[in-house]
Amino acid sequence: MKIIIDGKVCIAQKGEMLLQIAKRNNIFIPTLCHSEALPGPGSCRLCVVEIEDGGRKSIVASCIYPVRREIKVFTDSEKIKAIRKDLLMLLYARTPEDETINNLRKEYGVPDKIRFSGDKEEHCILCGLCVKACEEMGSNSISTIMRGVTKKVSTPYDEPSSSCIGCGSCAYVCPTDAIEMIERDGIRTIWNKDFELVKCEKCGKAFATKDQLEYNRKKLSENHLDVYCETCKRVITGEKLRDIYQP
Ligand code: SF4
Repeated sequence: MKIIIDGKVCIAQKGEMLLQIAKRNNIFIPTLCHSEALPGPGSCRLCVVEIEDGGRKSIVASCIYPVRREIKVFTDSEKIKAIRKDLLMLLYARTPEDETINNLRKEYGVPDKIRFSGDKEEHCILCGLCVKACEEMGSNSISTIMRGVTKKVSTPYDEPSSSCIGCGSCAYVCPTDAIEMIERDGIRTIWNKDFELVKCEKCGKAFATKDQLEYNRKKLSENHLDVYCETCKRVITGEKLRDIYQP
């Protein structure tokens, strides 16, 4: 199937998300809450585009819009730029000192002086990607709590969560680095909880928490797991494959 994005003919699979098709064709669409590993959640809405389907135009979030027919897509029309500007104004009002939001704000012409301004320390845009990452891990340790202007992501009652394994997935996926994760003297601190870090048996780099490795071991029903970081794992696998194919 063919679709046209900003005048460029792109090949697409039926059901494929518009954002993916654009990316594959080197057409840039801004997004904050999208991660390759975690489809959706389509909450920041910055990836909105205009589509023309059988003569009808509409605005859709490209990260959660599956293509079903041949359509025309406009990723940077005046209407789209105006919507993104409004969205960024709201995000800027919530996170006035955040670097990522400020860079986008300038790009879309949002003035630095606006009527409302939130907490200078706030960096969370409430996109929910961290919650999704934690769900994928199977930990379900964090969620959005409170309502209105007090809404935030946290552990239940802001207390250290017994289910949190300190894997850091929530912090790694956060588009604005809003989740504090400190590593000092072999201890990782995240969500008000301390975790012992474990070093890779090959390179010696601290790469995971003890709780995280124990969790993985139980999940895989293994008695013992080799303790290697991802880089060393790849090297070891490569060496094993070489031994097999180049005797
Ligand atoms: S560090 Fe804790 S809260 Fe964050 S993803 Fe891992 S288990 Fe969930």
